[in-house]
Amino acid sequence: HEAKNTQQPYVSYQKELGKRANDLRDMSSKIKRAINEQEFELYLQPIFEADSEDMHGAEVLIRWPQSDGSFISPELFIGIAEQSGLILGISKWVVLETINHLKKLKSAGFIGALHVNLSTKDLESPEFYEFMETLLADDPSLSDFIMFEITERAMMTNLPAAQTMMQKLNSRGFEFSVDDFGTGFSSLVLLRELPISQIKIDQSFIKDMLTQIADYAIVESTLFLATRLNCKVVAEGIENEDVQQALTAMSCDYLQGYYYSKPVIIDDFINKYLNEDKYRII
Ligand code: C2E
Ligand code: MG
Ligand code: MG
Ligand code: MG
Repeated sequence: HEAKNTQQPYVSYQKELGKRANDLRDMSSKIKRAINEQEFELYLQPIFEADSEDMHGAEVLIRWPQSDGSFISPELFIGIAEQSGLILGISKWVVLETINHLKKLKSAGFIGALHVNLSTKDLESPEFYEFMETLLADDPSLSDFIMFEITERAMMTNLPAAQTMMQKLNSRGFEFSVDDFGTGFSSLVLLRELPISQIKIDQSFIKDMLTQIADYAIVESTLFLATRLNCKVVAEGIENEDVQQALTAMSCDYLQGYYYSKPVIIDDFINKYLNEDKYRII
C-alpha cells in the first residue's frame, strides 16, 4: 500500500516530464515552420518625449498570429526559441523586417529610431555580429535608426559575452537600452561595465508608483542615478494620465505605454502618428 503511494507521484512526474519534453519539441518545430513560412509579424509601439509629447521612436514587438485569430505570447515562444537554438533565426528576421519597416516609415516622415529586443543567445553569437556588420556595410546610417533593447537578465546571463558584443556593436555606432531595469538584481554593475545609453524602468515599478511608496522611491532613484551617469530614461507601462504627469514632472525623458498606444501594425502606426494632418504645421 505504502509503496504504491510513493511510486504514484514518481510515475506521474516522469509522465509530466515526458509530456513537457514533447511539448517543447512540438513547439520548436512549430517555431521552425513559422520562421520558414514567415508567420511572424512586427508590431510597433510608439515612445514619446515626455516634455513635448513628440514621438521619439518606437519599440518593435514580435507577434505570432494563429489561425484562430489568437496570438502566442512572445514571453512563451521567445523562451522556447532560446532553449532550442532558434532565436538567432528569429532575431535576424526581426532585424531584416525592421529595416523594411524603416524604409516605409522614413518615407512617411519618421525620424526616430526603432528599438529591437535581443536575447542572450544573440549576444553570444559571432554570426549575429557579422550579420549586423554586413547590413551596416549596405547602409552605414543603420546604427542611427536601430537601437537594441536587452534585459538586465540577458546581460547578466553571460556578462563577458554581453560586454564583448555590446562594445563591438557600440564601436560601430549602435546604442543600447537596458530593458526591464530593476528586475534583475544587478542593475548597478551593468551600468558601470557596459556601453549603455538608455534605461527602461520596468513596468512593474511604474504601474503602482503613485500608491506604492517603494515603487515611487525606486523610480525616483533610478532617474537620479541615470542622470548622473548620462543615461536617458524611458518609463514603460504607462497606463493613465496621473502616472504620465508624475513622470513628466520628475523629468523622465521618454514615456511608453497603453496610455498613448498599444503596439500596432505598421499601417495603423503610419496613419495614426505620421499621416495626421492635424499635427502638421501649415
Ligand atoms: P519588453 O521588451 O519589456 O516589452 C514590453 C511589453 O509590455 C510588451 O509585451 C508590450 O506589449 C507590453 N506593454 C507595453 N505597454 C504596456 C502597458 O501600458 N501596460 C501593459 N500591461 N503592458 C504594456 P509583449 O509584446 O507581449 O512582449 C513581451 C516580451 O517579449 C518583451 O518585453 C520582450 O522581452 C519579448 N519580445 C517581444 N518581441 C521580441 C523580439 O522581437 N525579440 C525578442 N528577443 N524578444 C521580444
Ligand atoms: Mg523591450
Ligand atoms: Mg521591458
Ligand atoms: Mg519585459
